[in-house]
Amino acid sequence: MESNKKFITTINCMDGRVQLPVIKYLMEETGADYIDNITEPGPNKILSENIAVSTVESIRKRVSVSVEKHLSELIAIIGHHDCGGNPAEREEQIQQIQESCKLVQEWQPDTKIIGLWVDEHWTVHSA
Ligand SMILES: [Zn+2]
Repeated sequence: MESNKKFITTINCMDGRVQLPVIKYLMEETGADYIDNITEPGPNKILSENIAVSTVESIRKRVSVSVEKHLSELIAIIGHHDCGGNPAEREEQIQQIQESCKLVQEWQPDTKIIGLWVDEHWTVHSA
C-alpha cells in the first residue's frame, strides 16, 4: 500500500445518485486521496436496527479492512433523501445515522466517525 496516501471510508447507500456528491464533499473537506466505499441500500437503517446480523457483520469486516489495511482516518455514515432502502423521513434518518455512528465507534474506537445527510438537491450536510 501507499503509506503516504490518505484513505477514508464511507458506509454509504448503494444509490448511484449519492456516490459522487459524497466523494467530492469528503475529498474537499478532508483532503483524502482515496475513499473506500462500503455500500448497502439504506445502511443507516441496517446499522441502527442491528438485526440483519450477516449484513451488519459484512459491513463490520469491510470497515476493518479499510481501517487496518489502509489506515483509514475517518469513517462517514450516510443517509439520503428518497432512499429506496430506507423510507424514513429526514429527522428519523438522522437519528439512525447517529445510532449507526455509535455502533461503528464501538468497532473502531480510535477512528473518527461522522454522519452525513444528502438532501433533495443532492447537497451533502453534516448530520
Ligand atoms: Zn438509498
